[in-house]
Amino acid sequence: MNLSIDSLKRNVPLKNLVTFKLGGPAEYFYEATSTDALLAAIALARHEGMPWFLLGGGSNLVVADEGLEGLVVHNLTTDLKRVDHESRQISLSSGLELEFLVELAHQLGMSGVESFAGIPGSIGGAIYGNAGAYGRSIADVLIDAQVLFPDGSVQTVPNAFFQFDYRNSRLKSEPHIVLSARFQLEPGNRDEIKARIDDIIEQRHSKHPPYEIGCAGSFFKNLPPLPGEERRRAAGSVLEQAGAKQMAYGGAKVFDKHANFIINEGQATASDVKHLAEMLKQKVLKDFGIELSEEVLYVGRI
Ligand SMILES: Cc1cc2nc3c(=O)[nH]c(=O)nc-3n(C[C@H](O)[C@H](O)[C@H](O)COP(=O)(O)OP(=O)(O)OC[C@H]3O[C@@H](n4cnc5c(N)ncnc54)[C@H](O)[C@@H]3O)c2cc1C
Repeated sequence: MNLSIDSLKRNVPLKNLVTFKLGGPAEYFYEATSTDALLAAIALARHEGMPWFLLGGGSNLVVADEGLEGLVVHNLTTDLKRVDHESRQISLSSGLELEFLVELAHQLGMSGVESFAGIPGSIGGAIYGNAGAYGRSIADVLIDAQVLFPDGSVQTVPNAFFQFDYRNSRLKSEPHIVLSARFQLEPGNRDEIKARIDDIIEQRHSKHPPYEIGCAGSFFKNLPPLPGEERRRAAGSVLEQAGAKQMAYGGAKVFDKHANFIINEGQATASDVKHLAEMLKQKVLKDFGIELSEEVLYVGRI
């Protein structure tokens, strides 16, 4: 498949495509509904020497108020949905939602991904940031993935390729694109899986903002465990002790039920959010000598 610049939309607002509900337009925009279309869009950007950005579910981003230069490719690929019942392996296109994997595994009575219930975004975005919750992350279930390399080749790479770490992968430093991924599930009981999913969704509802409020999930990464402990220290509790819940800037505010969520009260700009994040980082550094680092990604000039 070949694409020309004429097949791209121009000046498309991104604020409706990101969960923070803010940010300016994409200079050029393309909705890739198949893997071939996604490959063609990236090839076009590379051929034209245009900067490009791959947008998944837009749930981990703060997009610049002035928008993004070059081409934004929205990954809506859904071509691959394959289940190998015998080996309990599920292969999916990267544009499908992570929630699709959770629900499909539940329907099939396969366990291992219930912990991801309620995490917004695409399969590709989840691999990029090694998304996870409740003690499990994508790295625990990914077998391998089909990846577009910067040289234009497409290869199947094993889990180890991604060098997964806490909310981190090799994709954060090298511009590889995940096209599809294969996951290993375990035998499970449908009712038990459903009960676990319902429990997790309820817990998330009790502490996260409702979906109509703009945010991008936990703003900062959790901290390394204290000596002698196994679990990471919640950035939210350190922020709360630093008085974060009373802090706001412009239209951006810290969520009153969870100090590690910055929310958009409706009129927040990306620079409001970044300004508030800097205030929070400085306060935590001053009070506790701890340097927080962002889990969300700033995209464009903010
Ligand atoms: C209410 C709420 C709750 C959340 N809870 C959690 C949670 O519990 N745990 C957690 O880990 N996260 C959580 N998040 C953050 C977010 O959902 C995850 O980071 C998610 O995996 C991002 O996926 P996405 O498709 O939205 O990525 P996007 O935000 O669209 O993009 C993020 C990055 O991934 C890159 N990317 C996207 N697709 C691909 C691909 N196919 N190949 C290569 N790179 C790609 C993008 O280019 C970008 O750099 C939450 C967010 C919200 C709004």
